[in-house]
Amino acid sequence: MLFSLPVVRRTLNLVAFAAAVPVVLAAQGPPSRTTGQQPVVIRGGWLFTSTGNDVVRNQGMLIVGGRLVAVNRAITASETAGARVVDLKDDEYVLPGFFDVHAHYNMTLGANGLRSDEYTYNPIIFLANGVTSTFPGGEYDPEGMMEARKRIDAGEQVGPRIYNSGPYFGTARRGWNQNATQADIYRDVDEWAAKGARAFKAKGIAPQHLRWLIERAHLHGLTVTAHLESGFRNSTNARDAILMGIDRVEHILGGDQLDSTKTAYPLWSMVDTSSKQFKDIASLFVSRHVMFDPTITAPVYFSQLPEGFDYWVDERKFFSPEVQAWVKAQPARKAVPSWDSLYNAMKRTTKALYDRGGILTLGTDNPSRGEFLAGFSAHRELHTLVMIGIPPAAALKIATINGARAMGVSDKLGTIEVGKLADLFVIGGNPLTNIKNTRNVHLVMKSGSIYDPKALLAEVEGKIGASPKRAAQ
Ligand SMILES: [Zn+2]
Repeated sequence: MLFSLPVVRRTLNLVAFAAAVPVVLAAQGPPSRTTGQQPVVIRGGWLFTSTGNDVVRNQGMLIVGGRLVAVNRAITASETAGARVVDLKDDEYVLPGFFDVHAHYNMTLGANGLRSDEYTYNPIIFLANGVTSTFPGGEYDPEGMMEARKRIDAGEQVGPRIYNSGPYFGTARRGWNQNATQADIYRDVDEWAAKGARAFKAKGIAPQHLRWLIERAHLHGLTVTAHLESGFRNSTNARDAILMGIDRVEHILGGDQLDSTKTAYPLWSMVDTSSKQFKDIASLFVSRHVMFDPTITAPVYFSQLPEGFDYWVDERKFFSPEVQAWVKAQPARKAVPSWDSLYNAMKRTTKALYDRGGILTLGTDNPSRGEFLAGFSAHRELHTLVMIGIPPAAALKIATINGARAMGVSDKLGTIEVGKLADLFVIGGNPLTNIKNTRNVHLVMKSGSIYDPKALLAEVEGKIGASPKRAAQ
């Protein structure tokens, strides 16, 4: 979560919810998926490969053993023999799978106000939306998330790739030790690196702790991203984090626009992108190749602005009847005007950084409280990137290859190229003429396995937030 509104903050100090949901969805059976073993030929339609800036007519693609063996060439009869053939219509477009690099699985699912990681059904929502790779960006139940990732990797559960972040580093972790020593931080990093964390997320972290986290993570070849502040109350400004060697930054750019005697967000809401302070911090991001993950849509949820959180599928139906009843009983969400200004600041700073050559990623930081789900919000964030003036092709690269770079997997994923893993999805309508067309997901492929997004979503209806007993039925 980006912001700690009172109702949200209340949840942060409670003990971790033991979300022991023993449900493992069958890997086979329903017609919503095929295994990645059978070769697949995809013919017709169009391709956006994320290697160029245009769409091209698809002559043919061949996927064998989960990999792209041929891209955009005529597929021979012998190659087609024994393969599953997918013929696309002329208004269908193939895109690389999306990366959501701020993809919280955690959500608030009822009256206790407790946020917990939902890794049983939420993974299906991501996948059904063409989001084939996710970085959770801070986990409340990192052990459970790690187990979910292993089940997905083993084909025992359906979901996107999960690049585990492990627990938050900083006050966002329940029970975080503000007096942790260098040895404590190193031990913590070593432990989560050994368990398989793929990158770390800091939030509410003191400068010395962040320095140790970065040092140790880099020793393991792992990266660090952070939700940062102004420097106020022993928090860390992004400027200092960049000088320490941080790899990525979330939400706001920081720098001298912020006053270290004040909290960051109200000042950031007034940021002047033509100021020297802004140019200095933007230049630092660019010169140090630090990636910026703006999560622009996150504050819209709290703002007076309807744009950003519209429904094209009523996401409320995926929650259990109990959660739906709880949401209905809530007072109407109070729109706070100050979120409008923050949202507008995020829009203009993100565009200004992009114009100066900054590297952006797509992250949702979805504030799920029974109404919206991050898998859908990936398309909201993408749309927002285009709304601020980023060309659609560049926005699609931000959602694909830039995410792969952020996760250190751009040699295997992020584009549609021969030799890469076959993570892709098919949409209806040209995304370059209307970016909202990415919402019309017709087919999803991960590692060569085909999923029917409608069938996947149908499996989740009424399930999120159901008690484990109910979910097992
Ligand atoms: Zn977050």
